[in-house]
Amino acid sequence: MDYEQFFADRIAALKDEGRYRRFAQLERRAGRFPAAFDHVRGDEVTVWCSNDYLGMGQHPQVLAAFHDAADRLGAGAGGTRNISGNTHEHILLERELADLHGKEAALTFTSGYVANDAAISTLAKLLPGCIIYSDAYNHNSMIEGIRHSGAEKRIFKHNDTADLEKLILADDPARPKLIAFESVYSMDGDVGPLAAFCDIAERHNALTYLDEVHAVGMYGPRGGGVAERDGVMHRIDIIQGTLAKAFGCVGGYIAGSTTLIDVVRFYAPGFIFSSAMPPAVAAAARASIQHLKASEAERAEQRRVVAEVKARLKAEGLPVLPSTTHIVPVMVGDPDLCRAASDELLDRHRVYIQPINYPTVARGTERLRITPTPQHSAADIQHLVLALRDVWQKLMIPRKAA
Ligand code: PLP
Repeated sequence: MDYEQFFADRIAALKDEGRYRRFAQLERRAGRFPAAFDHVRGDEVTVWCSNDYLGMGQHPQVLAAFHDAADRLGAGAGGTRNISGNTHEHILLERELADLHGKEAALTFTSGYVANDAAISTLAKLLPGCIIYSDAYNHNSMIEGIRHSGAEKRIFKHNDTADLEKLILADDPARPKLIAFESVYSMDGDVGPLAAFCDIAERHNALTYLDEVHAVGMYGPRGGGVAERDGVMHRIDIIQGTLAKAFGCVGGYIAGSTTLIDVVRFYAPGFIFSSAMPPAVAAAARASIQHLKASEAERAEQRRVVAEVKARLKAEGLPVLPSTTHIVPVMVGDPDLCRAASDELLDRHRVYIQPINYPTVARGTERLRITPTPQHSAADIQHLVLALRDVWQKLMIPRKAA
């Protein structure tokens, strides 16, 4: 077999479909986010699609904790958590996370992706005859966790509690069950009915697994997520989150009862056989969590900027999807147009918004996903609106509401 040719054909197929991704070469400017330097164009751009939702990646307390821990402990952890990679910083971070979610314990992983994959696959594999009920829009990391568990799965319609309960009722009441869902769905910006899912889980003795990746730091009085905001944290068995979005660092975690956390700690290959996150990252993430537990200022300012951006784009007649959260998706509906719009924005307006194409979203629903932060100024917003108006006109992208 000509392996090179085979793989080249796969890439050519992606290009034909307009799905070939080019990485931007941007360097965020710490202290001046959302400004970033574009190495391709040799110019500064404004980032409008970062998941550093609150700009915590450049927060002085976070950077101070990062520098301090790096100076004290060095760059890497030096091993897995079991073999020489466990530091006091990791333990303190896990205590902080357990407290954030009102749980007995927490466990960190190198990413939110690994956390989902490792935790779901391990829990469902251990439970004999477990059935997993998964929201149709769940993130790939949960889907892979389900696949790796080898457990039977049922997909319920997105956010559809009636469909979920119908599926559960068709199964043996004696079998162990796990219901997996998210709070904020990151591509549409809608929110799961957490309390109703908990009601169903309680009626049918199922475990609840909630991905709060796009909500931690952002919602709830202490940034504990939508479950905190909705007063249902105590009803969720496993809360999963990331340190890479609103907390501005990197890494993932789960929080739950001591027993559940211990089971994952002892049985999950994705935890056991992977080096621990750098202690400086753990320290920086803890500083970020602590800050957002006490400070509402970033969340309040972000809400204000988000509301303004949504209102301005709607007033412009742009097809903004009906998001109820901080995510502002603008529908394009075609992969080539979506990429072209993103290129035009960057080339001619120095506005960076990555196109979101299949497989991240369904074909025909390609979009620009805008994430305003507290650091975007009135001038940034004005510039964004004019840039989008110009690009929509030039490329003749439909304006009808999606
Ligand atoms: N869960 C959801 C819903 C996500 O959107 C993502 C990443 O974007 C992850 C999990 C993975 O988190 P991380 O980026 O920390 O790996």
